[in-house]
Amino acid sequence: MLGSGSSGNCGLVITKSSTVLIDAGFSCKRTKEMLGARGISLEAVDAVFITHEHHDHIQGLRVLRKYENITFFANKNTAAILEKKFGFEINWQVFETGDIFTFKDLRVTSFSVPHDAIDPIGYVFSVDGNVEGTIKSLAWMTDLGYIPSHAAEYACSVDLLVIESNYDNKLLAMDRKRPPYVKERIRGMCGHLANEEAINFIKKNKSGQWKKVILAHVSVDCNSEYVIRKLLEEIGETSFSVDIARP
Ligand SMILES: [Zn+2]
Ligand SMILES: [Zn+2]
Repeated sequence: MLGSGSSGNCGLVITKSSTVLIDAGFSCKRTKEMLGARGISLEAVDAVFITHEHHDHIQGLRVLRKYENITFFANKNTAAILEKKFGFEINWQVFETGDIFTFKDLRVTSFSVPHDAIDPIGYVFSVDGNVEGTIKSLAWMTDLGYIPSHAAEYACSVDLLVIESNYDNKLLAMDRKRPPYVKERIRGMCGHLANEEAINFIKKNKSGQWKKVILAHVSVDCNSEYVIRKLLEEIGETSFSVDIARP
């Protein structure tokens, strides 16, 4: 996880033969720095997979698109709206939501999530192989108002789940920066996932195959690590670890 929050989202997936980013929510400069800190150059990145067109997921595209080594993946609607927004072409590899395809050694599944973007999606990435202890599959679902049953199925079928845990209900209610209509949007069916929704989901499905769960897109103003940790205590014993992604 390079970083996740309302100011930017970017995940890094490294397999035997591919290095890919999920979303490009930080400036190219910042992305380069974050990759550099892990000993990876932008020239080593093979692809970027976009979830939806909101600023905190695509900020880096303007400059990243100039890197010829990178293939940009998005569904048809998202690619179209981004081209319109930017006014320049990006060398997209376009797919339809729901498509399953391969990229190098990755098997990629896309699925729709309820969020107020044109065609927002989550992803499942998986690789073959049977190296004991390694993570072979990942479900990525940030930016969703609730967890529909098809997304829940994907979420439970992987070694690593990245799931949004955006806000705490009380802290959101107390927040003074956001006008009521913005709070309604956040709480809505096409907004963001609250701590309780994410953590209850983990609690309910904790017997699954997870090796690790990462709580992502945590609001800086309307959430706190302390509150999240308190809720996590209620899950009890698990065979997997739960991390909180940094902004
Ligand atoms: Zn969004
Ligand atoms: Zn977002």
